[in-house]
Amino acid sequence: MTGIAKEAETESAVYKTLLESTKAIPWKIDWKTMSFAYIGPQIESLLGWSPSSWVSAQDWAERMHPEDRAWVVDFCVAQSRDGCDHEADYRALTKDGDYVWIRDVVHVVRNDDGEVDSLVGFMFDITERKETEQKLMALQKELEEFSFRDGLTGIANRRMFDSIMEVEWTNARRNNQPLSLIMIDIDYFKPYNDHYGHIQGDDCLKHVGQILSSAATRPRDLFARFGGEEFVLVLPETDAASAKKVADRCRNLLFKEQIPHEKSPVSPILTVSLGVDTILPTHKDQPLGFIKAVDTLLYQAKQNGRNCVAMGG
Ligand code: GH3
Ligand code: MG
Ligand code: MG
Repeated sequence: MTGIAKEAETESAVYKTLLESTKAIPWKIDWKTMSFAYIGPQIESLLGWSPSSWVSAQDWAERMHPEDRAWVVDFCVAQSRDGCDHEADYRALTKDGDYVWIRDVVHVVRNDDGEVDSLVGFMFDITERKETEQKLMALQKELEEFSFRDGLTGIANRRMFDSIMEVEWTNARRNNQPLSLIMIDIDYFKPYNDHYGHIQGDDCLKHVGQILSSAATRPRDLFARFGGEEFVLVLPETDAASAKKVADRCRNLLFKEQIPHEKSPVSPILTVSLGVDTILPTHKDQPLGFIKAVDTLLYQAKQNGRNCVAMGG
């Protein structure tokens, strides 16, 4: 063997090792024969089917959830024919008869004449991500159906907060992502009620709920009524600096409303105190412990004179 050939062989061995040691599963399909030229051995540990059992594109289509099969096959064939790179999420059948959510990312390889030669791609196991998405979607649906909505303010209620917190906690732990929590409590609300009356107190709570619900902007952020005149913000995948910005935005939004509070010792307008903390949850932590820590920070903000933010860490 020549030096160059040997070098090329070594290089291709390196690529093969790399391809077969990633979690993503590489594959190649020859377009003319619609048969697998290659599939990474990792496929067997994920789905149970041996690499040699992946012969034709038909095997791929058959090992797909019946509800996904038609659209995925039609979509992938149409995109490939047009020479467009694409991706599709579907449920792949395991040898045991279960399903695993897969994201298949496909690159179309053309020959020198510009014709489609083959498809190469990676399959990613996205089961955990899909589970989180589905849980969040189910909760969102319940919110629309009122069981998770607070009767007075119309925003999410405590039950919704508890459920979302559980889902986001698990997600943050699995993906090693920071989770931030903000607790907000109206300053001197008892004197407000005593002075303006309970009906106006209720209106004030509705107003504050409506104003603060625009403080967080990401689709997965949750704003809820925690109870009484207390609100919470759950901020997934958010670090301490960003959480601090959201907390400041809460105070600014409320300041702009200039809601009179004649009996407040700290200000002639309605103010809030906020506790803010961020966690990278591990197996040792519990959501309740984190919520308590944020509540303690809120208490600190009250001790520090109210109308301010107390940060953890
Ligand atoms: P602090 O600054 O320490 O938070 O003082 P505060 O007066 O806000 O604290 P406290 O917890 O003693 O009082 C909360 C008050 O909020 C008591 C209650 O009258 C009022 N409140 C709680 N829920 C409602 C509600 O649904 N409607 C009305 N109108 N008032 C409520
Ligand atoms: Mg309170
Ligand atoms: Mg209060």
